[in-house]
Amino acid sequence: MQTNEREFRQSKEFLTEHDQFLVVSHVQPDGDAVSSTLVVGWLLSCLGKKCVMVNEGPIPKRMAYLWNADQIQDLSQQPLDQKFSHVICVDCADFKRVGKTKELFAENAKILNIDHHPTNDGYGMFNLIVPNAAATVEILFDLIQYMNLELNEQAATAIYTGLLTDTGGFRYSSTSPKVMAIASKLLEYGVDGPGLSELLLEQMTLPQLRLLTSALNALQLSEDGKISWVTITDEDLQATGAIHEDMEGIVNYPRNIQGVEVGLLFKVIDEHAVKVSMRSAGKVDVAKVAQSFGGGGHVRAAGARIEGTLDTIIPRVIEQVKQQL
Ligand code: AMP
Ligand code: MN
Ligand code: MN
Repeated sequence: MQTNEREFRQSKEFLTEHDQFLVVSHVQPDGDAVSSTLVVGWLLSCLGKKCVMVNEGPIPKRMAYLWNADQIQDLSQQPLDQKFSHVICVDCADFKRVGKTKELFAENAKILNIDHHPTNDGYGMFNLIVPNAAATVEILFDLIQYMNLELNEQAATAIYTGLLTDTGGFRYSSTSPKVMAIASKLLEYGVDGPGLSELLLEQMTLPQLRLLTSALNALQLSEDGKISWVTITDEDLQATGAIHEDMEGIVNYPRNIQGVEVGLLFKVIDEHAVKVSMRSAGKVDVAKVAQSFGGGGHVRAAGARIEGTLDTIIPRVIEQVKQQL
C-alpha cells in the first residue's frame, strides 16, 4: 500500500515493541505540531502504552478544544525531572527544533522521527519522512490506517486541525487530492469543519488585530517590489497586548502583495537573536534561503533562528533572497 513500506513497518514496530514514550514536537508549536503530538498520544493509548507529551512553548490558546491538549507539558514553564529511552519527534525539521525537550532524552535514546519537511536530515534511529505530505498529521493518518486502528472523533479532529492549519485552510499548493480525500473521511467522523475554520482561520482577538495593524504600518518593500517584510519586537507585543501566537499568519500579508515573490517576518527573540519567517509566491525556494541561515522548512514556507540584531540580519536575509530571485 505505502511506497515507503519499510519506514511504516519500522514505525509500527517501534510503537508496539516498547512501553513508555516521550512525545515532542518543535519549539513554539503550531497547529500541526500540537495536533501531531496529540495524535501520537492517542495512537499510543490505543495500544495500551504510556506516554508523556512535552513541548518547549505554550499550546496556542485557541487549540484548547483538542482532546488532551491540557496534557502537553510546557517545558518553558515547568522543568521535568525524567529521562526517556524512547522518543517520538513529530513535525521537527531538525534535531535543534526540539529545543529544551532534549534534556529529557536519555543518553542513548532511540528516536522515531516523523516529519514532512523536505529539509529533514533524518536525525532519528528511525525516520518516517514524507516530504510531499501537507502536514505531519497526514503521515499519522496513513500510519493509523497502516496499523489498522479505527479513528474516533477526537483523533479525527486533531488530524483535521493539523491539515487545516498547515495548508492555510486547504489553499496552499500542498493541498493534494489525497489531502481532500482524508479531510472528507475526517468529516465523516463528525469533525466540525466550518467551526474549526472559523475558530482557527477567521476569528481574531483585538490585540491580534492591533498587532497586525502595527506590523503593516511599518511594512517595507524592496525597490523592485519583489521582496516585502515586516518586523515585530517585544515592544510591539507589549504595546498591543498581543502574545506570541498572535504573530501566526502575519507573514502572509507582505507575501500577498501583487508582484511580491517573497514575504518576510522578522521577530526579535531577544537582544541576540531574531526569528525569520519566509513565504514564497512560488519562484523562490525559501527553504534554501532558510537553510543557508541554519533553518529549514518547505519551498514556499520556511524559517530560521538567526543570531544577531535586526539591523544586521535584515540586509543579510534580503541579500540572500535577492540571489535566489
Ligand atoms: P514559520 O515561519 O514558523 O511558520 O515556519 C514555516 C515553516 O518553516 C514550517 O514548516 C516550520 O516548521 C519551518 N521552520 C520554521 N523555523 C524553522 C527552523 N528554525 N528550522 C527549521 N525549520 C523551520
Ligand atoms: Mn510545524
Ligand atoms: Mn507541519
